[in-house]
Amino acid sequence: MNERRLVPSSDIDPCLKNHALMAVVPTSVSFAPTDSTATLHDQDPIRRRRTATSLDNAVSQPSLDRGALAEQSPSLLIIDDDPGIVQVLGRMLAGLGHLRFALSSSDALRLAREDAPDVVLVDAEMPGINGFEFCAQMKIDPYLAEVPVIFITSHGDVENEVAGFSAGAADFIRKPPTAEVVVARVRTQLRLKALSDALRRAALVDGLTGIANRRRFDEQLQTECDRSMRSGDPLSLLMIDVDHFKRYNDHYGHPAGDSCLRAVASAIQGLPNRPADQVARYGGEEFAMLLPDTELAGAAHLAQRVVETVAALRIVHEGSPLNLVVTVSVGVATAHSHVDGANIPASAQALLGAADQALYAAKAAGRGRSLTYAAPTLTDELAGPTCRA
Ligand SMILES: [Mg+2]
Repeated sequence: MNERRLVPSSDIDPCLKNHALMAVVPTSVSFAPTDSTATLHDQDPIRRRRTATSLDNAVSQPSLDRGALAEQSPSLLIIDDDPGIVQVLGRMLAGLGHLRFALSSSDALRLAREDAPDVVLVDAEMPGINGFEFCAQMKIDPYLAEVPVIFITSHGDVENEVAGFSAGAADFIRKPPTAEVVVARVRTQLRLKALSDALRRAALVDGLTGIANRRRFDEQLQTECDRSMRSGDPLSLLMIDVDHFKRYNDHYGHPAGDSCLRAVASAIQGLPNRPADQVARYGGEEFAMLLPDTELAGAAHLAQRVVETVAALRIVHEGSPLNLVVTVSVGVATAHSHVDGANIPASAQALLGAADQALYAAKAAGRGRSLTYAAPTLTDELAGPTCRA
């Protein structure tokens, strides 16, 4: 049976007609080659993201912002070399989320890598990269590995299903698809995906302050050190410690101490303003701020703002000799991949060690201030490191 006949084009609502049209655009199999696919890959990453976003908007609901869509509704990616099946599935799933389509695995991989979907429905039998190979490629991509993949297949034999599950399939749907079955299976996968996303997020968030936890920070630090080694860009780190915090806890009690840490976290997490910057609770009353592609001067400026912002909270601390309010000390260090005698290498251990030395120096100098780490140069190596304001 030719599934294209399941839904005559005259029955397709105007919105789905747009979907079908846009599904054709990124594919060059049986249509005149278009620029859209090539363009997505030839542009720089920021422009690529913008292009993909505008494409997504055009595909789904032009009146809604893509960012809002991502928060409000899940994202579904449907892949089948038969546009008729794409239309049928699009119609069935229209109410479940933000829909995107592709007529080939290669186009689908491009769309998925631009913006990871929450669930994928893929035809098992396709020319070029078939559904099994497509699924296997998703599972080896860290960005897409957690996305559930549902196979659509006209072969219901055991071997086929075993091959699908070994490629990483989450479920199977038989052709011709039935609306109730498709919706139920997709809903189940979306529910499981939402649950696993929430668990993953919770595992990386500090329970007390709601900012990144130590585990997340350690992962990010390693990633950014590796990136800095490759790119040669500087990488800066601020270690931030609440002054006399034990005295604060002893005097006001632990619930007040928790409130104090939440207030400090909330105040400093908004200071860096680039997406790659990260503020984390490092442990106890210590916070860390990781600033990729930031020179020492920029990091020192931000450290001073951290000191001033926390003091400006005016959290009363009768046990503190510093104006009787809660203050922080900050140690700053910057790593460069091009190591010479005066630089810190971009390794997690070296950067943490240097920022810690600067933090201890700031404590020793009277607290409530920031100091930067200056590595010994080749000529004064014997003098050892110094820290300066
Ligand atoms: Mg097919």
